[in-house]
Amino acid sequence: MRKFLVIGNWKLNGNKKFLINFINNFKKKKIPKNCDIVIAPPLLYLDMLNYLTLNSNIYLGAQNVDININGPFTGDISVEMLKDIGVKYVIIGHSERRFNYYENNFTVLKKFILLKKNNLIPVICIGENYKEKKNNLTKKVCINQIEIIIKKLGINALKNTVIAYEPIWAIGTGKSATPEYVQNINNFIRSYIYNYSKSIAKNIIIQYGGSVNENNAKSFYLQPDINGLLIGNSSLKINSFIGIIKKIV
Ligand code: PEP
Repeated sequence: MRKFLVIGNWKLNGNKKFLINFINNFKKKKIPKNCDIVIAPPLLYLDMLNYLTLNSNIYLGAQNVDININGPFTGDISVEMLKDIGVKYVIIGHSERRFNYYENNFTVLKKFILLKKNNLIPVICIGENYKEKKNNLTKKVCINQIEIIIKKLGINALKNTVIAYEPIWAIGTGKSATPEYVQNINNFIRSYIYNYSKSIAKNIIIQYGGSVNENNAKSFYLQPDINGLLIGNSSLKINSFIGIIKKIV
């Protein structure tokens, strides 16, 4: 059976009441067996999410992590802390962090190394902006964002790693990429990895993210090189999120 990974990235949204309602509602729904679900709420609510989802099929995701483990870093959260409260997946390199907090490929690499050391699963976000797309630079940008990891750590570092292809122009805009466009890029990324390792290329999860909703989810699911979805806005509405998941069969 084909496995599919759906991650809901709540960004800076939600509160305790929202979280409790969402999870209680979600637990009543039947989730397709081939679908793993991750919810990434604001970091503050992860511990609560952990308790609410005990004995359920929802995994915990973090939207970010710091590059330090402990010490004088006011306001930060470490990999070890995330692990301590049951987090399994950690999103790194999201375009909003690259843009708003000046994170770059080196920051992503540092976070990746710490996650791997602690056996957490990195979800590396990659993707081009509109100008890069227009200049035919999409493939180059995507490879640059992954290559730094392979060159520094070797291809085996991509075992148990998720890549989320998220064209920046499609995030939060309501204008998703077409399934064919994403299939072409995801296939290109997989072929690039294949040059280093056939088995990693075959097994790595390459998601798509960017204005996914109930109406377009199935068309992405049907593409052979799209193995999951990273969902922002639609993950905040329980009916839309469930609607998307129900398409995964
Ligand atoms: C995202 O932020 O990763 C994302 C895909 O957002 P949206 O689904 O709202 O486009």
